[in-house]
Amino acid sequence: MKFQPARGTQDLLPETAKQFRAIDDFAFAKAQTYGFEPITTPIFEFSEVFHRTLGESSDVVSKETYTFTDRGGESLTLRPEGTAGVARAFISNGLAQNLPLRFYYSGPMFRYERPQKGRYRQFHQIGVEVLGLETPETDIECVALAHDFLKGLGLADKIQLEINTLGDSDSRAKHRERLVEYLQKFKAALSPDSQVRLEKNPLRILDSKDKKDQELLMGAPALHEFLSVDSQKFFDKVLQGLETLGIPFVHQKNLVRGLDYYVHSVFEFTTTHLGAQATVLGGGRYDGLIEMMGGQKTPGVGWASGLERLALLTDPNFGQRPQLQVAVIAAEEMTESECLKISHELRNHKIRSETMLGGNVGKKLKRANKLGAHFALILGSTEMDQKVVTLKNLSTGEQKTVPRYELLQHLKI
Ligand code: ATP
Ligand code: MG
Repeated sequence: MKFQPARGTQDLLPETAKQFRAIDDFAFAKAQTYGFEPITTPIFEFSEVFHRTLGESSDVVSKETYTFTDRGGESLTLRPEGTAGVARAFISNGLAQNLPLRFYYSGPMFRYERPQKGRYRQFHQIGVEVLGLETPETDIECVALAHDFLKGLGLADKIQLEINTLGDSDSRAKHRERLVEYLQKFKAALSPDSQVRLEKNPLRILDSKDKKDQELLMGAPALHEFLSVDSQKFFDKVLQGLETLGIPFVHQKNLVRGLDYYVHSVFEFTTTHLGAQATVLGGGRYDGLIEMMGGQKTPGVGWASGLERLALLTDPNFGQRPQLQVAVIAAEEMTESECLKISHELRNHKIRSETMLGGNVGKKLKRANKLGAHFALILGSTEMDQKVVTLKNLSTGEQKTVPRYELLQHLKI
């Protein structure tokens, strides 16, 4: 038996787990102020949910999915991302009546990747989706939420917003034609991956990390030259909106996102602090997705961000208020059950409380100190009869006798 986590997975020990929770809670609280509601979808889905929607030629589907046949012979896939599952849930639950909808999700995702700092095989995403709104203002709000959230985490100086438009499907088709014409001439010089992409999804070549591919792309026809008037107007409004809200951005003309379903706005918040793992948060508009999955045509826009990368960038103490902690100590055996009762009452007031059991008072005090408790509460039988307790502040050493009914007032740090 191997006593190690599987490659690309990691245990989140309390320090990191607390940080993940704090970031997730903070993001959700922010999203709620924008009208988002939580949704949770299954961690695995029928494989088609991802294979059809993300595009067979996308890196995620062609190289990264965990797909397996279950005991009933169904092909299932561990979710590599959140949008396809939310879209599937929207269709399965007949939510088209309730539009517009704003969803927030968080949870583990799975991709078979080469693990490195900020890149894992099981990782965690938080994300949002807005369904049923086709206006540029929706994109603006979606980006604004992301910006607001990252700024609130204290990351404003570490990140940059890059944004681009892919145009509508007409613009994309025109560009595709010319791009293929151009790249066909250099086919032999393209990387093997890009040669395949040229047949299946040429736009993705723009996203290639291969140096030679990138050089060839310098002379390629650019997407923005093929934008329809409406697409251009849409994008101009998005950029104007960001300016109005004071959100700094860079129009990155080569930005395309890895997945097939994007149209119009695509955006990423990137950083130079995480080496090759430059993207902290990514998203865009996916108006064709739900129809492609067999639902009623419903526009959508959203983003997702990896908690591992966020945690690496964020102050480890973010959102972690010290919690008042009391060690409750019975000075005699006969007061032990009363001590359990006191601990219980303290917890009802959201105070972390632990009853020290076993050993003499000296030993119990030692353990209370080791635990890092702020107060030791000591109860002997005389005190129990007089309805008082002895309260010792463990950092100052100050000790006093306090009536039970006044106890809470004395527990302050
Ligand atoms: P990359 O270019 O780094 O592979 P991506 O484009 O595949 O990212 P998305 O699919 O857009 O990433 O996912 C959104 C976010 O999820 C990323 O910006 C990143 O923060 C996080 N993420 C994606 N893949 C991983 C991974 N394998 N490990 C940790 N976080 C990840
Ligand atoms: Mg990736």
